[in-house]
Amino acid sequence: MEIAMVCARVSLFILILSLCSPYKFIQSPMDFGPLNLLPTTTTASSDFGRILFQPPSAVLKPQSSRDISLLLSFLSGSSLSKVTVAARGAGHSIHGQAQALDGIVVEMCSLPSEIEFYKGGEGEISYADVSGGVMWIELLEQSLKLGLAPRSWTDYLYLTVGGTLSNAGISGQTFKHGPQISNVLQLDVVTGRGEIVTCSPSKDADLFNAVLGGLGQFGIITRARILLQEAPKKVKWVRAFYDDFGTFSKDQELLVSMPDLLDYVEGFIVLNEQSLHSSSVAFPANVNFSPDFGTKNSPKIYYCIEFAVHDYQNKDTNLEQVVEVISKQMSHMVSQLYCVEVSYFDFLNRVRMEEMSLRRLGMWEVHHPWLNMFVPKAGINTFRDLLMDDISPDNFVGLILIYPLLRDKWDTNTSVVLPDAGSTDRVMYVVGILRSANPDDGCSHQCLQDLLRRHRRIANTAGARIGAKQYLGHHPTPSGWHQHFGWRWERFAECKARFDPLRTLGPGQGIFPRSN
Ligand code: FAD
Repeated sequence: MEIAMVCARVSLFILILSLCSPYKFIQSPMDFGPLNLLPTTTTASSDFGRILFQPPSAVLKPQSSRDISLLLSFLSGSSLSKVTVAARGAGHSIHGQAQALDGIVVEMCSLPSEIEFYKGGEGEISYADVSGGVMWIELLEQSLKLGLAPRSWTDYLYLTVGGTLSNAGISGQTFKHGPQISNVLQLDVVTGRGEIVTCSPSKDADLFNAVLGGLGQFGIITRARILLQEAPKKVKWVRAFYDDFGTFSKDQELLVSMPDLLDYVEGFIVLNEQSLHSSSVAFPANVNFSPDFGTKNSPKIYYCIEFAVHDYQNKDTNLEQVVEVISKQMSHMVSQLYCVEVSYFDFLNRVRMEEMSLRRLGMWEVHHPWLNMFVPKAGINTFRDLLMDDISPDNFVGLILIYPLLRDKWDTNTSVVLPDAGSTDRVMYVVGILRSANPDDGCSHQCLQDLLRRHRRIANTAGARIGAKQYLGHHPTPSGWHQHFGWRWERFAECKARFDPLRTLGPGQGIFPRSN
């Protein structure tokens, strides 16, 4: 074991020399002692956004958290080292957040995919201890075998546990259970200094809180303890259409005020035939909605609320009645409410069907200039107007999600940045402008840059006018990040100095450029 460690240290030293040298000499797979370090790959250089392509000098495929610790402690003890390191989960970032130009990318999916369950008895909690590189779909598949499931999700499940916990992890369950970062009991983290720390709200809480929503800046999550609940068997999944934004958002706010009845609330804008069709791929109802979208100069747009109620089958609840009680209070368009029943698994995995459909059309592996924003309730009408001033419904390709979240389900001790609570409003909104830009349809470099510029303008204006904050954000300069964090900047920077003083981690976010 000792000999292996010495070999690894010598190999790392050679690696650092190589990375610091103008002549990069890692060109073929090399054996770095017990560390599985490989030359760069196309995968490690890119992400889902397909906007940035930044090759690292090497890729680490760790077999354990000790491999990651060895790398980071070596780098933090080496005065030669200017090398940066990025954890890469499933690489579903948009703006190179998991990339490390000329540095080292740590492929988290190489960690052994371990999931261990603790099933609590009556009145006790249940949880799963999960490796940081495990995807949520794997956790769902395994936990369902025990009749359990996590409480809080993302819409798409082919994302890693470490990747979403570094942001927040939100979906239609967030109004009820909070984001995924509010549903974690404990983490194993390798800090930027290379220390392996088990942290929780009661032990090393500063690190625990910093890492949740911490954008990969303080440590690499190698294990997370995720809270579980009893899994429903089926889900009643309902969609209702609106032709007026005010009525749509009023109904959404009504729904999130009924957490005892509902389990999921989202919504989206129906801009054109394409958005109606693409959002319906997984929804197995015969939707008889063919609205008039107006003309190019005078477009008409619609809105769709989506809600779901869990069906546990063993409980004595009449779900038809529950849906009726809820829908009677809603003010959707006449006859425009559709209800289907699907398995819990199919409901949670619904975006996979859309992915498959888009892949078949050659529309998955295209540019994704996405913009996600948290918008205070008081500014949601202004934000909608800002958005619609910028978007031409006739040529928008993609989806625009809008749904409410409740502030008190978020722990303000974590690193996540929400709009300031200017009023007593519990409600804020998330708006996701999920665009696809296909070079084969004429959207190549210039068109992509134009879309990015327009999104930046929306984000800046919404930030200045209504205090909206980017989620999964991208700020081209460190000063943009200062502004993003606002009064929280000092705490964030202090944590960086404490847990990753050499600024080794998370270079792709562009928050802390290396000083040397
Ligand atoms: P990566 O892109 O690989 O990494 C993201 C960031 O986390 C990087 O900074 C990286 O360095 C860091 N990181 C990765 N792993 C670790 C780790 N183990 N420890 C520390 N830092 C780490 N988000 C939502 O909240 N809700 C949604 O419904 C949702 N739907 C999505 C649907 C699609 C189709 C896509 C492409 C994205 C969606 N996202 C959603 C965004 C997604 O949650 C984030 O992009 C998330 O970071 C992706 O996880 P990943 O494993 O791909 O992370």
